[in-house]
Amino acid sequence: MNINTGNRLLTSLVLAVSLGCAAVNASAGNDDFLDDVEALPASKVFTNGEMPKFPVLGKRRVVVVVGQWSNSSNVDPAVIRQQLFSDDPRSLRSFVLASSDNKLSLEEFKLLTPSFGEKPSGNCSNGDIYPRAERAIEAAGLNQHEYDQLIVAVACQGGANAGMPGNRMILFGQGGSSHVFLHEYGHNLGVDHPRTYANCRRSGDTVYAPEGCAVSSIADSGDPVGGGTGLYPAVNRAFAGWLDERQSSEITKTGIYKLSALGEPGPQAYAIRRPGKNEYIMLEHRQANPPYDFPAEDNRSIGVWVRYSTVGSNVSSILLNANPEDTTFAKPTLLPSRKLIDEAAGVKLHVCITSGKGRFFAVSVNNERLPDCTATPAVPLVTSPEQGQDVLIAPVFAGSGIPGASIEIGISDKTASTIVDAQGHWRFVDNEIRPEGEYSFRVRQALGPLLVSEYSAVRKYRVKHSELDRVLITAPLPGAKVGRYPLVTGRAVPGAEVSVAKSIEARTLAQTEADERGNWSVKITEPLPDGSYSISARQKRGGQTSAWGNNVQFNVSSTLETPVIQIPEANREVGVDNVILSGTTSPGAIVVIVPQGRPSDFLATTTANAVGVWEVKITGLSLGTHTVSARSFDNGSHSGWSLNRRFTVVQKTVQGVGLKNGTQAAK
Ligand SMILES: [Zn+2]
Repeated sequence: MNINTGNRLLTSLVLAVSLGCAAVNASAGNDDFLDDVEALPASKVFTNGEMPKFPVLGKRRVVVVVGQWSNSSNVDPAVIRQQLFSDDPRSLRSFVLASSDNKLSLEEFKLLTPSFGEKPSGNCSNGDIYPRAERAIEAAGLNQHEYDQLIVAVACQGGANAGMPGNRMILFGQGGSSHVFLHEYGHNLGVDHPRTYANCRRSGDTVYAPEGCAVSSIADSGDPVGGGTGLYPAVNRAFAGWLDERQSSEITKTGIYKLSALGEPGPQAYAIRRPGKNEYIMLEHRQANPPYDFPAEDNRSIGVWVRYSTVGSNVSSILLNANPEDTTFAKPTLLPSRKLIDEAAGVKLHVCITSGKGRFFAVSVNNERLPDCTATPAVPLVTSPEQGQDVLIAPVFAGSGIPGASIEIGISDKTASTIVDAQGHWRFVDNEIRPEGEYSFRVRQALGPLLVSEYSAVRKYRVKHSELDRVLITAPLPGAKVGRYPLVTGRAVPGAEVSVAKSIEARTLAQTEADERGNWSVKITEPLPDGSYSISARQKRGGQTSAWGNNVQFNVSSTLETPVIQIPEANREVGVDNVILSGTTSPGAIVVIVPQGRPSDFLATTTANAVGVWEVKITGLSLGTHTVSARSFDNGSHSGWSLNRRFTVVQKTVQGVGLKNGTQAAK
């Protein structure tokens, strides 16, 4: 086994060996490769702003190099291709498509089988094999901007390793199944080997964690990085940008919340931050999903999975074994009627009993009282259409409710339904075209068959028909410099289906739906070529299709813009309660702020808006002088580091110097 990293050597060695030993568990532990990961040291600094994520989206071009020795046995390229790209549900490509809900597609771009000459004596190393692979790629006429992911396989001592996060992995042998690829690709997404909280204290229906629990190296049957068979868990998906803000959110308030099953419409992940830490209690629910995951009667298809996940420059999770008396580790979920109490975090969780789909639960934070699982839900709020409003073509119904609850909308003679998103908003686009005139509707929400709210008051609106106008693109701005995956925003008719296309060719690059106010936003996930590029958009609504709108020309660069820190100005004094950093970078990029010289200690992460402006508030900085730097990330690539910015945090309150509203554009 070859280990060539610094700080993590010992931990990785211990974890990798324990993974190999976890094979006693029938449902987990098929890691036939011991491995190591090339990781940044875990963050020790409290990260402000959003939960960090490093999205990997769209079609990714994969180069595979299967090195061939002239004097020794070799890895079979046909087997590697089968394990990576075949239609078998457990090929890496199929598995990633299923886990990402088709948001990430790993495409075979080139599979090379170069001669590596004579096999060197002793073990193979990254330092020897990667350069051989890179020479083969160069000889094939490819440069590094023409592919996104590198996979190298060569017959050596066995074992594998991968960047974490990163876009390359190496196998020193051939696996008996695709599992090694599912495991190593999890590392590439930024996921470390998970562990398990075992032997937690239990009293009646309540389990107490994490204080008093033992950290077991028995891994996670819901994550191939933990030796498991299940599809990548919710925290991995959130980190990889596969769950958007309607599908995943942070719980900061005591209340009732509902999870849909992973991969189903509605909220799929909730995160409860443990105070003062980069650690989140991550909640997900799975249901039988053949050929993936677990049978319907299995514990893992019934309850709520609870992971304690430290999220910074990578993800490190500890799965709660919520049934401490079970020593098979195959029944980890918190079942309906059970409670979890995390005394140190002041968090309580109660999984409610329901006979319907999904799982709802009560959460309390700040040591507050748990809400009642059996209380009748309140009437949902309605924000659109407003009472008496004129709506163009057909209405977009919208409002707020209990995250994950089902919304039933009674519209004149029919009933429609939708699900409240993870942020507590709901929306239903009515595509039925009715004659012009006045209509009425009312709504109610349900957590399960027996927990249904009263109806809202009846509201009236008036339908007016009209020709569809052209779509307006508000970002990128004409002439803007953007990365290869620009965020595009604009205005359209509420509920319209908006297509963004390359000008002249009218080839569709991205599609989205305008919200109830007519705003829309979509990220292009196919890599645009460097240089001048021009897009246009059009909309469809009620059987009509608009003309294409104006062409917007901008400049694409495969090199992300190094962020500029504009605020605070150099050497300024900043009040401790008002430390706001802001600046610019490539539109839509993730911005990470770190202390000078400590690249994996994230002080804050945030996302630049569609015109490249970002802003984040930092709490918890000590009084005195700080020097920070920033870097941008976008869909697997990153910028250089910004210039250092030095400022002094002082006790007094200094007038806020955030961005003026006028410079803020919609994200
Ligand atoms: Zn590993």
